[in-house]
Order: sequence, then structure tokens, then C-alpha cells
Amino acid sequence: MMKEWLIGIGIALTLFLLYLRINVLPLIFLIGLGVFMWMLLERRGHPLASSREAPVKHPVTFADVGGQEHAKQELMEALDFLRYRDRIQSLGIRPLKGILLTGPPGTGKTLMAKAAATYTDSVFLSAAGSEFVEMYVGVGAQRVRELFRRARTMAKKENKDSAIIFIDEIDVLGGRRGQYSHQEYDQTLNQLLTEMDGMSTTQSPLVLVMAATNRADILDPALLRPGRFDRQIQVDLPDKDGRLHILRIQTKGKPLAPDVDLEHIARETFGFSGAQLEALVNEAAIMALRQDKSEISQEMFRDAVDKVLMGEKTGRKPTEDELRRVAVHELGHAIISELMKPGTVSHITIAPRGNALGFVRQIPEHDRYLYTREHLLQQINVALAGCLAEELHYGDRSTGAQNDFVQASQLARTMVKCGLSRIGIVDEEHLPESVLDTEVRHILAEQERVTRDLLAPFKADIAQFAFHIVEVESIGGDEFRRWLRGVQKALPAPKESIAVCPQLSHGVTIGV
Ligand code: ADP
Ligand code: MG
Ligand code: ZN
Repeated sequence: MMKEWLIGIGIALTLFLLYLRINVLPLIFLIGLGVFMWMLLERRGHPLASSREAPVKHPVTFADVGGQEHAKQELMEALDFLRYRDRIQSLGIRPLKGILLTGPPGTGKTLMAKAAATYTDSVFLSAAGSEFVEMYVGVGAQRVRELFRRARTMAKKENKDSAIIFIDEIDVLGGRRGQYSHQEYDQTLNQLLTEMDGMSTTQSPLVLVMAATNRADILDPALLRPGRFDRQIQVDLPDKDGRLHILRIQTKGKPLAPDVDLEHIARETFGFSGAQLEALVNEAAIMALRQDKSEISQEMFRDAVDKVLMGEKTGRKPTEDELRRVAVHELGHAIISELMKPGTVSHITIAPRGNALGFVRQIPEHDRYLYTREHLLQQINVALAGCLAEELHYGDRSTGAQNDFVQASQLARTMVKCGLSRIGIVDEEHLPESVLDTEVRHILAEQERVTRDLLAPFKADIAQFAFHIVEVESIGGDEFRRWLRGVQKALPAPKESIAVCPQLSHGVTIGV
């Protein structure tokens, strides 16, 4: 209707201007240009053009959440009070008002909150803790009140009898009161507590607050009291089966080449979160697009793992000499890794990526949460092997091993602190830095000797194979193993002792 009017007025105006003998051509040209631009924007769905409804996505369900079996189970049980309200009421059970999801970022907490809304047929509202923090006192509290009010009106409007409010990063506003000497946080938190205390089972719509944090330890104890967030659910990084499940979910509907082995990818990606796995699948698909392939291959997944772990390939162009040195260095890592734990070299590459000029990726045999003394020593050997291979081949070292040394020292420090060094059991708190230092140095010096002896027989072979690596840029674990078997000297089989050490930050990659 509007359009017709505008066109009519436009024509009348043009005729009138013509009647006044004014040159209308530039005007017509300008209007034409304007209309053309508007249509272009419209086609692209640009926000400047008329706003459109977002396409309706399928609602998130628990089937979209991979792994996390335990957390899902616990959450669904907790949610049953919303699904079976009558029974809960007749038994006089105190309603569940808040559920706190704790765990590292990217493990699917937001996803689970959305699934919870679908599962209970509730409306879903979300906000992040940081949204409540303002310069002006009172604004945060006002926003909390507003959020609860919106949840109720939205539920009524959509004819649902429950609403789930999801507050991400609740630690931002739920840190211990008074700790930051910032009145704003306190008021906001108080308001949240007031809202939660005011909720009751008989109310309709029923409101459930879900919150997520990776720092449950800094939350104000008042938040965790019964009647508030009295249910805490731990959402951990996925184990191997969990990763496989997530990979299956994320690759659903994507064309995979027949050689793709998701099980293998799951094994290689220890320590990855769900979000990282999602990024990994996406990267692999982008590679297929770039290479103009219709299917995603195993090699693309392998490259994508490298990319997620090490960063984008860089445009750095090392000289021929540097390339050879990097190849020698990486061969050192790879040989020792394979001698210590056969089958653990995933691949070797000398294509620069992120900060590394090249790297060897190791495949963990299985997820590890405890580390034996033997395992830690072996990892130190692997880390030191890069520079020792350079030393063996060139007679000197380069600056490329800096990261390796950091890694080796960290491993050695862990050994000392866990009572796995020659000074035996120690109390970490009362361990003088100088003693720690001496022990770390001792361990590293000893392992340097061990590694050097292990590498020495391979001197000529390294020189010859490094040439090959420079030519092909990267080689797979199987090819490497075939070569190694061909040149391998008789070696004692490594043995595993049973001393154990608690969790240690995991490094599956050894950069240059
Ligand atoms: P969090 O809230 O714990 O930081 P998110 O739920 O925001 O993590 O996860 C971000 C994205 O990562 C999700 O949208 C999803 O694509 C993917 N993701 C994370 N965890 C999982 C999981 N357990 N199963 C499937 N996908 C996941
Ligand atoms: Mg999130
Ligand atoms: Zn290295």
C-alpha cells in the first residue's frame, strides 16, 4: 500500500517539476540508485533493510548433547520436578529453584540449559553475568528484576507453564559479596537472591534458574544455600567415548569420505572440549571447500586437529637450511616417542603453524588422568630429543628448542612435587625453590644423557631421512614407523612402573 502511494507521489512530483521546467534527470538518476541499493540490501538480508524474523531453528534436545552421560542423567532427574508438577506438589516437596552447571568453557553447559527448556517445554531466556555489571549502581539489580518479569510474561504469552532463566558466567556477579568492594555487584546479587527466594511452587508460570560457571569455588556461599542453587552438576571435558559421540553429532549430515575414522580422531583429541570438536569439524569442512572436494577426508580432519591445537599455517618461509634443521629436530622427537611408546607418532610435519616451525603430534594410547614416573620421564626424553638430534647432526643447538625445555622443566617439576624424584615425598608448600631447582636440574641432566645415548645409533639415518622429510613436508605415522623398523637397532623394551602422580596439564604436541 505504502509503495503504491510513494510511486504515485513520485510521479506527480516529477510531472510538477517538469511543468516548472526544472531538469529532473539527475533527480531520477539519484532515486533509481537509491532503489537499487535498497533492493541489494534487502536481498542480502542486511540489518539496515527491513528486519525479518530469524529462521526457526529446530529446538535443542538432549540428543544434541554428546557425552556428558552422567551430567545429562542428573539434570534430567532434577528437571522431572517441572514435568511432574502435580506429584511434586501432592507430596509437598520443596521446589527446585536453581541448578548450577560447573565446568570448563565449551563443554556444553549452554547447550544443556537449552535442552532442559525443550525437555520441560519451558520458555528459555538467557543472560550473561557481565550484562548485569554497569557503572551505575542499581542498574544491575533493575536488570535482574526485568529478566524475571520478562520470563513470566513470555511464558504466559506462549502459553507455557514454566520458564528457564539461564545465567552464564554467574561468577561475575555472584562472587563473594564485599570481596570486590563494589557495591554494584552486591546489589545485583542481592536482587537475584530476592527473586529466587520469592519464587514458589504454586506460582504459575514456574521459574527455574540455571546458571553456569567454571569457578564454583569463588561463588558467594549464599548462592549455594538450600532453596537457591542447591543442585550442582559437574560438566567435565569429555572422555574418549564422549568425544566420539560429540564428533558423531557434529558430523551428522556432513559428507564424510569412506576413509574417515571418527574413533581415531576421538583418540587423538584428548583434552578437547565439545566446542573445540565442533570447531575441528567445521575447519575440516572448510578445508574440503577450499580444496573444492565434495567430501571431508581423514587428512582434512588431521590438518584441522593441527590447526585447532597449533594455530593457522603461517606464511613464514624458512630457508632450505632451516627446513633441514627443523626436520632433524622433529625426527629426534619422533624417534624417541616411538622407541618409548610404539605407535604414538601420529605424524611429523615441517610446515610452520602458529609459533612452531614444525612439530610431531603424538597420539595418546588412551585418556590419562594419572601419570607414572616412567611416563613422565619418557615425556621428558621426547621433549629433549629435538635439540639433542640437532646436536648429534650439526654439533650444535639452535633456539628452536625453547618450548621443549619449558615443557621438560614442567614435567620435572611435577615429578619433584609429586614425590617421584630422588628426594622422595615432599610438602609442596614447604619446598624451598632452590631445592626444587636443584632437583629439576638433576632430572633434566640425567635424562639428557639417557636420550643422547638412545639417539646416537641413529646419527646416519637421521641425516638421510631428514632430506626426505624436507622434500615431502609431512609424513604420516605409519610411513615413519616403516622407516624406523628398517633402521632400528636392538633396544631394550621400556617398562612401566606403578608409582602414580595426579593430573597434569596435557601436551599432545611437541613444537619445535
Ligand atoms: P559452554 O556453555 O559450556 O561454554 P556451549 O554449550 O556454549 O559450552 O558450547 C559451545 C558449542 O560447542 C555448542 O554450541 C556445540 O556446538 C558445541 N558443544 C559443546 N559441548 C558439546 C557437547 N557435549 N555435545 C555436542 N556439542 C557440543
Ligand atoms: Mg556457554
Ligand atoms: Zn622441539
